[in-house]
Amino acid sequence: MRPDLLNPLFADVATLPGVGPKTSKLFERALATPHGGEPRVADLLFHLPHSGIDRRARPKIMDAPRDQVVLLEVTVVELRPPSSNTRGKAPYRVVVEDDTGDMALVFFLANHQWIERALPLGAKRWVSGKLELWDGHLQMVHPDKVLDEAALAKLPPVEPVYGLTEGLTQRAVQKAAEGALAKLPELPEWIDLPLVAQHRWPTFRDALERVHRPQGPEIFDPQNPARLRLAYDELLASQVALGLVRARMKKLGGRASVGDGKISEKLLAQLPFSLTGAQVEALKEIRTDMASGERMLRLLQGDVGSGKTLVALLAMATMVEAGRQAAMMAPTEILARQHYERMLPMCEAARVKLALLTGRDKAAERRKTLEALEAGNIDMVIGTHALFQEAVAFRDLGLAVVDEQHRFGVHQRLALGSKGEAVDILVMTATPIPRTLVLTYFGDMDVSLLREKPAGRQPIDTRALPIERLDEVVAGIGRAIQAGARVYWVCPLVDENEELDLAAATERAEVLRQFFGDQVGLVHGQMKGKDKDAAMESFQRGETKILVATTVIEVGVDVPEATIMVIEHAERFGLAQLHQLRGRVGRGKGRSTCLLLYKTPLGEVAEARITIMRETEDGFRIAEEDLKLRGEGEVLGTRQSGTPGFRLASLDVHGALLPVARDDARMIVERNPELSSERGQAVRALLYLFGRDEAVKLLRAG
Ligand code: ADP
Ligand code: MG
Repeated sequence: MRPDLLNPLFADVATLPGVGPKTSKLFERALATPHGGEPRVADLLFHLPHSGIDRRARPKIMDAPRDQVVLLEVTVVELRPPSSNTRGKAPYRVVVEDDTGDMALVFFLANHQWIERALPLGAKRWVSGKLELWDGHLQMVHPDKVLDEAALAKLPPVEPVYGLTEGLTQRAVQKAAEGALAKLPELPEWIDLPLVAQHRWPTFRDALERVHRPQGPEIFDPQNPARLRLAYDELLASQVALGLVRARMKKLGGRASVGDGKISEKLLAQLPFSLTGAQVEALKEIRTDMASGERMLRLLQGDVGSGKTLVALLAMATMVEAGRQAAMMAPTEILARQHYERMLPMCEAARVKLALLTGRDKAAERRKTLEALEAGNIDMVIGTHALFQEAVAFRDLGLAVVDEQHRFGVHQRLALGSKGEAVDILVMTATPIPRTLVLTYFGDMDVSLLREKPAGRQPIDTRALPIERLDEVVAGIGRAIQAGARVYWVCPLVDENEELDLAAATERAEVLRQFFGDQVGLVHGQMKGKDKDAAMESFQRGETKILVATTVIEVGVDVPEATIMVIEHAERFGLAQLHQLRGRVGRGKGRSTCLLLYKTPLGEVAEARITIMRETEDGFRIAEEDLKLRGEGEVLGTRQSGTPGFRLASLDVHGALLPVARDDARMIVERNPELSSERGQAVRALLYLFGRDEAVKLLRAG
């Protein structure tokens, strides 16, 4: 249960004074609401001002900075209403001066009475607005403030400036934020007290007050103690949540699973190659974990094509040798099917019973599979998220492999882990993730890296061309498929609109068919599963030579004969995505090419991405560069899938706090795993505040 103390922060923003239904709608657009509901008071408080207008600087007219908002002390010297024959088109001008010079306040379509009341001749006034030079004269159009001495005294020294959406004004956010601050209770301290003292951090409430009611420009420095504290709060919440998940998993205990190597040997004997050193090393780490009495929680990171799937298969084999079952969860139907088909002949030769379970199975077939899983007549199962549905039960699940993890959430990982007694978990990610991000998103997992690629891989020739040179590209592809090449042609998301997205790919397929006839296949996300498979299969078999696709082929698909990857509108893809796509080629013996077709003019970031793509194939380097170019949420694709990211912490500036938060979280979870102590209670409030209360539920369940 959420602590009552937090109730005011969980009320809708519409309950704040001055926020009606209309403003509330605007807030819905302007504020990040990871919970997906109506914006709440806490969402508003977490919407921090990004800069401020310093009202204390009182420059003179002549030396005030141009084209920015300033506050000036002036005397009204002349009122110049528009002459009546201009019919209100000409502005009302008010000339004001100080001892350095004069300027005009300009009002279009103005209410004359208001102007004359607010700016009487000879009066001293403080006006604020953007000062600009127009036709050789200084002017301020529609000052945002016209104050007399009394009003000036009430003005905050620095006025906060917030991110807005169309229709929302600074004034409205400022007022609402004031209302929200008034509701903000003093909360018990959840951070380790010595840490608070060491950094001289303000309390949570103080920190929010300082940021929303800036007293000076220093508060906008991301390293300011108040901002650091808030960033730390958010990091701590996520680390405690991950820590609780880990503790829960570890508490469920482990079981030592030791294989005799017989099945692995039979599988290995069928491979036309030997394992890379990195694969051998990773397998050793995995097997050591499985053999220990503790539960395995391991992340297997490797670039596309580094051979993770094989490592997973051999780990699963070890579990089967130990007399237990193993499951592998893939993010898409196509992938699950592909893994299954690859592994099936190998498994049959090794006398391992392998099954496929997806959402698309026929009812009767599905029932048979489920029965066999429960009876233990199936050793290994490959599937999609259909695997963690309630109806699925195992006789004795020992290992769950989760492929391409970032598409699944923490609770899905848990769901699979709870399908057996002491299930070891192996998570595989194809997007190499910098260490800081591993910590943020996966918590304290052990990591195995596959940095080395299988021998014999040729570098991919990556080129960038403007789309105007499409003719040349088509001609080149014609020659290549004559020579036996197979080509992926990827059309991107258009405005994240599936219909348009689809139209682009369909249209491209049509155009290519004019040249290459039925050698052109098409696969997209809205096709029926069967049709998708059929399109993939005829490409795999070489019946079609060119596969036009939306990004459905993004993850994991393996056609070693494909040697050309064309990415249309490359400027619209992120680095990680480009890298993933390019990784679909360069898997076989032939030399591969990746063509990045872009639309001109190319923006700065898009150009930087393309340059990096041409410079390197090292996924780890690309991931680091990606992190620099974009926010961290996007590196993992979390923004698209809606996993809550961070609102107050930004890893490029607050990354150093992460290991501190991890250690603090570890201590909290170790000392008081039920979060029942005084500090534990405070930490519970923290988890609710940052929407990590899913982890609190584990406390009860476990
Ligand atoms: P990942 O899942 O890491 O993207 P895969 O496991 O799909 O990579 O492997 C990509 C390709 O490399 C597959 O065709 C696989 O058979 C092959 N492969 C895996 N390990 C090796 C190896 N040690 N030597 C040569 N080829 C390998
Ligand atoms: Mg893979």
